[in-house]
Amino acid sequence: MILKPQNVVVPDAMHERSQALATDASALDIAISQEHPPAGVSLSAQADFPSRSVTLVLPPRRAPRRRAVRARNALASKKPLKVMKFGGTSVGDACCIEKTLEIVRGSLGDYRVLVVVSAMAGVTDLLLEAAMCAAAGDSETVARIFKSLKARHRSTANALIGSAAKRGRLNRQLKECFVEGESLCQELLLTRSLTAAARDLISSLGERLSAPLVATALTEVGVKSEAVDARECLVTDSHHGAANPSFELTRGRCERRLRPLLQKEIVPVVTGFLGATAEGALTTLGRGGSDYSASILGVVLDAQEVIIWTDVNGFLTSDPRLVAEASTIPQISYQHAAALAYFGAKVLHPKTLQPVIQRGIPVWIRNTFAPEQAGTKITLHGPHSDVSVKALAAMSDIQMIAVTVSGMEESSSVTHRAFAAVAAARSDILMTAQTRSTCELGFVVRSPLAERTMEALQMEFGSDADRRYIREIGVKNGVALVTVVGQHLRDLPGIAEQAFAVLCREKLQVIASSQGASDCNLSFVVAAEDMERTLGVLHKEFQLDGVSNFR
Ligand code: ASP
Ligand code: MG
Repeated sequence: MILKPQNVVVPDAMHERSQALATDASALDIAISQEHPPAGVSLSAQADFPSRSVTLVLPPRRAPRRRAVRARNALASKKPLKVMKFGGTSVGDACCIEKTLEIVRGSLGDYRVLVVVSAMAGVTDLLLEAAMCAAAGDSETVARIFKSLKARHRSTANALIGSAAKRGRLNRQLKECFVEGESLCQELLLTRSLTAAARDLISSLGERLSAPLVATALTEVGVKSEAVDARECLVTDSHHGAANPSFELTRGRCERRLRPLLQKEIVPVVTGFLGATAEGALTTLGRGGSDYSASILGVVLDAQEVIIWTDVNGFLTSDPRLVAEASTIPQISYQHAAALAYFGAKVLHPKTLQPVIQRGIPVWIRNTFAPEQAGTKITLHGPHSDVSVKALAAMSDIQMIAVTVSGMEESSSVTHRAFAAVAAARSDILMTAQTRSTCELGFVVRSPLAERTMEALQMEFGSDADRRYIREIGVKNGVALVTVVGQHLRDLPGIAEQAFAVLCREKLQVIASSQGASDCNLSFVVAAEDMERTLGVLHKEFQLDGVSNFR
C-alpha cells in the first residue's frame, strides 16, 4: 500500500508534525507492511490495515536516521529486480547450494534479487512416496523416508551454517516441518486415504525445508535474507495439485510482504511450487511448478527479468541424451519455448511463460554449474532469423486412445460427443488425429491421464444404442510423440513434406500426425522404439546441430 498524504491520519497531539509526516510519506513512497513497518515509522493502528487510513506515529528526534533510510531506500528502489529460481539440483546438497549462494551474492551490487527455491532434488518424490505408503498402511517405509530426509537436511545445514545460534534456529524451523509431515502421515495411516489437499500439504514440505536452509546459508555468507512461505504471498484458487494463481490478490500480498524486504535490500527466499487459497488452504501449482512460481512473482513485482537456474545450459535443439549433436539455443520466442515445454522439454514448466507474455519480461534458462555460459534468453519475438525449424521435443510417456466408428454417417456426432466427454474429464489432449477412411478418432494424452480419458469415453458411449456403431475404444501403448517446433510451419511450403519424405526414406513409420494444425508445431506419433531415431533423422534433416542457426 502506498501512502499518499491524504491517507495519513495523525493523532491530534502530533498535529504540528503532520505536515512533515505527510510530505515524508509521499516522498518516500513508503510501502506499509503489517509485519515489516519501514524503519523510522511505527504502525500504531494496525487494525485499520488494509484500509486506506493508517495511523503513523513518528518517534521523536529520529530525523537524521530517517534521512539515511530515505537515501538508502531511494537507492535500493532504483535497482532493477531479478527473480532467480533455483531448481532441485541447484539446492541438491551443500556443494550445490554454495554455487547458488555465489550466484545470488554476485548479482547484488546492481540488482535487487528475489530467490525462489525448489525442494532439494528428489525430496518431493520421497515425500509423495511417504504419503502413499502411509495411506497404504506401510509405516516402516514412512519412517525410513523421514529418517533419510532429516539426515539429509541436517547434514546440509551443518555443512553450510557455522554459527551455532543460526544453526539452532534453522534446525528448529526444519523440525517444525518434519513434525508436521510425520503427524500428517500418522493421520493417513489411520484414515488410509490420501486426499488431494493432503497430497498438496505433504508434497509442499520439500520447499518449506529448502527455503529456510538457503536463506540461512545466504546470511552466513553475508547476504541479508529471509525465508518466506509462499502461502503468505501467492494466492491461488482451490484446485489442489494444479492450482491457478489470482494475480490481483497475489500482487497485493507481495507488495505487503515482499516489497518491504526488497526495499531494505533483504533477499527474500520464497518457497516455489506452493501457494494458498485466499482462505489460507495450502495448494500446489503442479509438479515442476517452482518455475511457474518464479514467473508469477516476477510479474506481480514487475521484475526486469526472471532467471531459471538449473543444471543444463538452456533450451537445446533436442534432448542431448537422445541426440548427441543437440546444441544450446541462445535466444527463442515465448511461443516456441512454450511449445517445446508443452511437448516434452523438461527444462521449463509449460505454464511458466503465460504470465510474462503480456509484460514482455525476458526469462532466462541458465546453468548453476556453468554460470559462465550465457544460457537461453526467452523473449517476445525471439531472434531475428529466417530459420524455420528451431528445435525438436519428444515425449515417450504418452498413450493414444482411439475410438473406432463403424458407420461413416455417425462419425461427426461421435466426434462432437467424444470431444465434449474428454473436456469434461479435464483431460489435457496433446494432439488429436482423425481419419475419415477408417473412421478412427485418436486422442494423444500423457500416460497418467490415459485412464481418466478412456473412462470418460467409455461412459459417453456405453449405451446399447451407441454400441451398435462404436466398434472399439482402445489404447495404443508403446507410442511416442515427436514434435518439430518452428515458425511458419503451416505457411512455408515444404517443411511437412520434407519431414515426411525423410522419415519415409529412413523407413520410420508415422502412426498419426498433426500436420497443418498449428503454425509453430508439427507433431508425429511414432512407435516408442523409433523415437530416438526419428529425432536424430529430423535433427540432421533440419540442420539443427549448429548454434549459427539462431543468430
Ligand atoms: N519440488 C517440486 C517438484 O519436484 C516443484 C519443483 O521442483 O519445481 O515437482
Ligand atoms: Mg523443474
